[in-house]
Amino acid sequence: MALISKNIEEVKSRIRNAALACRRDPESVRLVAVTKTVGPARIQDAIDAGLDCFGENYIQEARGKIKALSGINVSWHFIGHLQSNKAKYAVKLFDLIHSVDSLKLARELNRQAKKHDCIQKILIQVNVGKEQSKSGADTQETAELVEAVSRLEHLSIRGLMTMPPYFDAPEKVRPFFKKLAELKDQVTAKQIANVDIKELSMGMTGDFEAAIEEGATLVRIGTAIFGER
Ligand SMILES: *Cc1c(COP(=O)(O)O)cnc(C)c1O
Repeated sequence: MALISKNIEEVKSRIRNAALACRRDPESVRLVAVTKTVGPARIQDAIDAGLDCFGENYIQEARGKIKALSGINVSWHFIGHLQSNKAKYAVKLFDLIHSVDSLKLARELNRQAKKHDCIQKILIQVNVGKEQSKSGADTQETAELVEAVSRLEHLSIRGLMTMPPYFDAPEKVRPFFKKLAELKDQVTAKQIANVDIKELSMGMTGDFEAAIEEGATLVRIGTAIFGER
């Protein structure tokens, strides 16, 4: 508990400093604490230390934890790769799904959200590094995908997300953050009806300060809070 709260204070202060350094309002950056492999007791410690937004990668793993912590007013985000056949669970469990990368998945989420009579908030995941191993829409197809998804009445597109290629130096990742921010501007310029792209989900433990400088509004941080997995 003591360690988690100390880590959280440190991460929050780094977020704040990174935002202030580029004249952004620190409140415009939300910390999504990534809790894959982290059990409910340690998540509870993080809640006690003031966190209110958590990111999970796997439906199966998340279900038990969200159930164990139900009744507590926190926001759960899905950040992992989502298969269409798991869409029904994702809609029940998550406030925001960061990883919508195909029209097929979007259609299925829309169908499930309709069943639940809700509007599911989503981000479009973009594969800015064009890596074979990563999911995400191609950069050239992003605007088209946003346009197609925008017609699905039970989805609300809030922004873009990316998992850039791995580098040990944040400066090497920065161009990919810039790319996602550019895409956001390009999509915004198209003024697509029902699309309000405000969020940029980018930046993890090794590079979140660079991401904030490039416009991140959601930073997804695991290791710096909970330690090595
Ligand atoms: C695990 C994970 C993170 C957090 O990574 P850390 O380096 O531990 O901060 C962020 N985003 C996604 C999609 C992840 O899978």
